Amino acid sequence: MRILTALLLFALALPAMAQAPVLLLRPDRVFDGESRTAHAGWQVLVRGDRIAAAGPDVAAPADARVIDLPGMTLMPGLIEGHSHLFLHPYNETSWDDQVLGEPLALRTARAVAHARATLMAGVTTVRDLGTEGAGYADVGLKDAIDQGIVPGPRMLVATRALVATGSYGPRTPDPQAPLLGAEEADGANLVAAVRRQIGGGADVIKFYADYRWRPGEPSRPTFTMEEMRAATEIAHAAGRTVAAHASTPEGMHRAILAGVDTIEHGNAGTAEIFRLMRQRGVALCPTLAATDAISRYGGWNGAAPEPQGVRDKRASFAAARAAGVAICMGGDAGVYAHGENVREMELMADYGMPLPEVLVAATSGNARIFRLADRLGAIRPGLLADLIAVEGDPTRDLAALRRVRLVMKGGALIREP
Ligand SMILES: [Zn+2]
Repeated sequence: MRILTALLLFALALPAMAQAPVLLLRPDRVFDGESRTAHAGWQVLVRGDRIAAAGPDVAAPADARVIDLPGMTLMPGLIEGHSHLFLHPYNETSWDDQVLGEPLALRTARAVAHARATLMAGVTTVRDLGTEGAGYADVGLKDAIDQGIVPGPRMLVATRALVATGSYGPRTPDPQAPLLGAEEADGANLVAAVRRQIGGGADVIKFYADYRWRPGEPSRPTFTMEEMRAATEIAHAAGRTVAAHASTPEGMHRAILAGVDTIEHGNAGTAEIFRLMRQRGVALCPTLAATDAISRYGGWNGAAPEPQGVRDKRASFAAARAAGVAICMGGDAGVYAHGENVREMELMADYGMPLPEVLVAATSGNARIFRLADRLGAIRPGLLADLIAVEGDPTRDLAALRRVRLVMKGGALIREP
């Protein structure tokens, strides 16, 4: 009895004993992730892993550590909506050669370095959409980051991703060899595979609603709407979101009706398809930077005339915005270098999106689409203190995002001026 009383008193005293460290951040201005303009003269108080207060006159305890950030804007950490930490730029090694030729240990070691580069660039969360042949290694990487073994962003992982039997790659001379880039499954096997991936650690289910069936062919639908609907139902019931790779109108149409949360790429989306996305609340992750990078690897130097692929992206991005579709910030990082995530934001702006909208998309917008808004994506008391400070004002000039001076994740300083 006496021991119990002592334990109870100890437990009651714990909150006072475990005083969380308190930090007061004093930048020139704060972009809160939701407002269209930055707040001049705001300060942000961080206690432990959370934001405790934000505003013009924040009262800080006497023992708070003060970090002055002159000339800088404090904002929420960026959320990358479409990355592949287990891939590296295709102009270094082609996708086929990475998937077929690079051993898992090498790919994992690269992914560790990519995770660090991503975090240092101010990206504090990534939705990593498939290991492309590296199995469930993303689950291990995520665990290593969460346990503080290696630095990296918070990860939402897709594990192997799902493709219809026979529809993906890489192709080898043996037509009977399994396609190693993702898990092949359909019908009842697809249902089992979704469950297997969820049980294995997937936070998000990703499937390919269309793809080229043979090298050189255009993309055509792969799964039926019923197959995708069954997969989506299982994922949603398990509290997971669903991302569909789709670039053809028919592939997009089936995925939208199946109830997916996001469409990746959407290259040939029409006004009608984007209206349907808007009606069904499906967001578009346009991956502008992937098309731009692949065009450049093919010899384009960025000058006019733009290649057809880039013109299609401009057109579909504009049509999606005109229809009022929620736009996710996700560039397909891995096609180009990790840590260069800002390229997608630069292209969103270049293709016509006002800068404040680009910044909202990369913070509170992605948090909402990925169902993280109760924890991440804005500067508001109670949310996790994932914060970055950049030199300049990104609401006026995105180049500020290439001058990241402070990175904080869950209240821990990863990088400071
Ligand atoms: Zn991708």
